Amino acid sequence: MNSIQFPTHEKIIEAVDKLQNEAIEKLKQMVSFDSVLGNERDVQLYVEEVFKSLDLKVDRFEIDLEKIKHLPGFSPVNWSYKGKENVIGIHEPAPTQHASKPESERKSLIFNGHVDVVPTGRDALWTQNPFSPYVKDGRLYGRGSGDMKAGIIAFIIAYKAIKELGFTPAAKVLLQTVVEEECTGNGTLACLERGYRADAAIIPEPFPEIITAQVGLVWCKVNVRGKPAHTLEMSKGINAIDGAMYLVGELRKLEAEWNTVKHEAFSDKFDHPLNFNLGMISGGEWTSSVPCECSFDLRAGFYPGTPLEKVRKTIIDTIDRAAKEKNLPYTIEWNGFQAEGVTHSASGDMMKQLGATYKSALGTDAIYSPVLCTTDSRFFELYYNIPATCLGPESKAIHGIDESVSLESLRDITRVLACFISDWCGLQPLH
Ligand SMILES: [Zn+2]
Repeated sequence: MNSIQFPTHEKIIEAVDKLQNEAIEKLKQMVSFDSVLGNERDVQLYVEEVFKSLDLKVDRFEIDLEKIKHLPGFSPVNWSYKGKENVIGIHEPAPTQHASKPESERKSLIFNGHVDVVPTGRDALWTQNPFSPYVKDGRLYGRGSGDMKAGIIAFIIAYKAIKELGFTPAAKVLLQTVVEEECTGNGTLACLERGYRADAAIIPEPFPEIITAQVGLVWCKVNVRGKPAHTLEMSKGINAIDGAMYLVGELRKLEAEWNTVKHEAFSDKFDHPLNFNLGMISGGEWTSSVPCECSFDLRAGFYPGTPLEKVRKTIIDTIDRAAKEKNLPYTIEWNGFQAEGVTHSASGDMMKQLGATYKSALGTDAIYSPVLCTTDSRFFELYYNIPATCLGPESKAIHGIDESVSLESLRDITRVLACFISDWCGLQPLH
């Protein structure tokens, strides 16, 4: 059996490169699905077909809130989960004597990506319809192209390239496409609850660097009530919009205070690691009436290691103090992200192997870097002891206008992921 020639990185890269046109076509198809929150089902059916075409066993399942709502990492929601499905393509290796590694060194792997995309903003600001993908100057444009349908294509094509060479991974590989990454992470949590575990997880989010840390973040909606009055006797009313603006000002002070604290994982690279974003606001009833109501939605970042309870309490205390000063009744709702920060140690086996594979596949050193957002990698690392990170194709304007992904970077990341399958799981002949 010594006669089996297992493919070198060079051969694997050749196989990936041959599939680049297919990668672009499949990415166009995926981007053409408008898979904003609540609308993810059709793209998941498409992914299911792609997984089946790779002879993967497929598990498509609806998230069951009852099963996950008590788990660490869960984020509460006020929307329905009906029809919200994850899709998992499962590769279980056949027993073999002929793998590229001894059994004890074959490690299992999860590739995870989210199919949900954020709203497009104003479509009129886009050069073309956000869900009519097109290629220009080596980049593919469209909502979700970078964040993160290209990353999903990268692991699909990486897996396919290995098969095209006549091999399969010699350990379990799970290709997961999940929903709800952009608001809760409950999709990935549901996969873990269902028993899908492995020795490592890689999420090709749109960062061409190996991610070493990410901030935590909470979402909350603050509802402020005023006292309506005609503007001719304005002083008798309490203006809910002015009140909300005052609360926001106090929250900005809290943000500034949090940013005076340094965290070793972020401070070298970022001047202002913790961002409070006022993402939505609504209020008022009539231009010449003192408004009764104003609500705003806040996203607040915080460092890994800070307990969620402490974060929420500090925000509540800030709002409460400011609201009392202005005599404003208010409520706070905590739906959506209640996400802890996480660090991914660069010295772990998976992180080191990924860096080594990157260097071998692309000829340059990988950069290890923190990011100022959250990703689903936190679930694997924090609650299931599965080493995890992100590494994906270089993208521009994610969550912005004219989002795009570099097709060269897509190919490069696919090369790395395909070589990583070989290095981490080992390979065995397909038949
Ligand atoms: Zn993303």
